[in-house]
Amino acid sequence: MRKTLVVLPLAFIVTFFTAQTVRKPARAASVSAHLPSPAISALEKIEPEHIRAHVRFLSHDLLEGRGTGQRGGDIAAEYIATQFWLYGLKAAGDNGTFFQKVPLVGNTPAPETTFELAPNKGEALRLKPLDEYVAYDETQNSSSDIDADIVFVGYGIEAPEYQWDDYKGVDVRGKVLLMLVNEPPSNDPNFFKGPALTYYGRWTYKYEQAARKGAVGAILIHKTDMASYPWEVVRNSNSGEKEYLKSDEPSLKAASWIQLEVARKLARDAGMDIDKMMVDAQSRNFHPVALPVRLKAHMVSKIRQITSNNVVAMLPGSDPKLKNEAVIYTAHYDHLGIRPDMPGDNIYNGARDNATGCGMLLELARVFAQSPARPRRSILFASVTAEEQGLLGSEYLGKHPPVPAGRISLDLNFDDVPPLGEPQEVEVSGAERTNFYPTVEATAQEFRLAIRPDSHPEAGHYYRSDHFSLARVGVPSFSINEGMKYKGHTSEWGMQQAEEFTNKHYHQPSDEYSPSMDFRGDSAIARFGFALGWEAASQPKLAGWQKGDEFEKARMQSEGAGH
Ligand SMILES: [Zn+2]
Repeated sequence: MRKTLVVLPLAFIVTFFTAQTVRKPARAASVSAHLPSPAISALEKIEPEHIRAHVRFLSHDLLEGRGTGQRGGDIAAEYIATQFWLYGLKAAGDNGTFFQKVPLVGNTPAPETTFELAPNKGEALRLKPLDEYVAYDETQNSSSDIDADIVFVGYGIEAPEYQWDDYKGVDVRGKVLLMLVNEPPSNDPNFFKGPALTYYGRWTYKYEQAARKGAVGAILIHKTDMASYPWEVVRNSNSGEKEYLKSDEPSLKAASWIQLEVARKLARDAGMDIDKMMVDAQSRNFHPVALPVRLKAHMVSKIRQITSNNVVAMLPGSDPKLKNEAVIYTAHYDHLGIRPDMPGDNIYNGARDNATGCGMLLELARVFAQSPARPRRSILFASVTAEEQGLLGSEYLGKHPPVPAGRISLDLNFDDVPPLGEPQEVEVSGAERTNFYPTVEATAQEFRLAIRPDSHPEAGHYYRSDHFSLARVGVPSFSINEGMKYKGHTSEWGMQQAEEFTNKHYHQPSDEYSPSMDFRGDSAIARFGFALGWEAASQPKLAGWQKGDEFEKARMQSEGAGH
């Protein structure tokens, strides 16, 4: 239905862009004025229909949902490597190949697993897997037993910079920690960044912190408004095989979620009130509460060693010295794979999530490679694996980058860019935390894209895609996506589309390709990303974080190590 309304707005943008920035260099104040005409003619070659072709193929049923460690995922990686090779890019993986091996351990909870909440008095409650709880044994062992006291630790956060400590020095070694997702609610920007979510609010932090404290298990209480996604998302991302990076770090025998109703019943049976406890947890004076309940679990897992690959290519820079530095583009190619045991459509095609980002990355790689002129720094293109498993491919890439992290100026990531037509807004959440932001603002203006602030800072999207893995090693990083306003539609329409996708298709088998998809927006965002990458690869200095940012320290460390 949207196919009929094309009136060359992209051509308009480019004409505007070209006219303003090249033919009239008088606009020297604008940062994009530095973009040379070969860069502009290269970005003009980015084609929506090329992106469509990649999305159509990568989300085809034959690729079986591109599961990590599954055949379909490997075919996707091979396809991406083949494209890089066709474009004439340099292989930047292991031993002169496009592949960087990522060692993983696959863990499938076995049906013999039992998970019981046993009150000191009365009968144990055996929970139903997937309906009432989800749990993984993170120790990478095939079986573990737990019989331990449950302690409610509120948000499970220890954050000295906000004078917040839910543990209060209580020894939780050998215990199972019951906790809330998210962080204490606040509108004060100096307290956990107000309504925005910090890393302390993410479930990954909660598990990591519980393990560091010596706990044997963690149980997160799922409450839809706090988690910002429904139980089905927890269920779908926590059923079947789950992968972990091979590691010797401390880990939990049970990393789990339960439904709020189960927590409510558990507390009630123990003569307690979970709703009141959740309110108490919002206070700085909160103190851990021992429950008269034990977790008795027999965790049985099917373990397999998996090797999956990041696909990495490089376009060497034109400057003899600066080519040792780089700008990196990332987009994950993996999705949730196929669930052979599931009736009906059991292929998680992941058309939007994230065949779209891969299509954009490939199209960027093509036009960069075919450009007769090159930016001074090198450009890296990394299509990473195991994002859906917890940003594992990018975590590995961040720890083993082809160019030292301290010499990577910027990471621009694409993840789930809706094929809904022409955007009039762009989202670059996290860019404002870097000193590259003025360039982002000026470029957005040239592209006539209004910068839309993060619509849901409370959802912590910044910590939920691959750029975060690069930020953790200090690289200024952010994702680029469309906002909510599209040409010919109101912002409300855009919001409705986003909501509908989240509720009906996000991480569901119905995230499928359809010929009615309109890739002009993906193309416009790729062009915008091209301009930013070119700028970052040409500026005299590497990009950095704003003073006091949570990643500034990591940047200083990696810069020290990289030189
Ligand atoms: Zn996803």
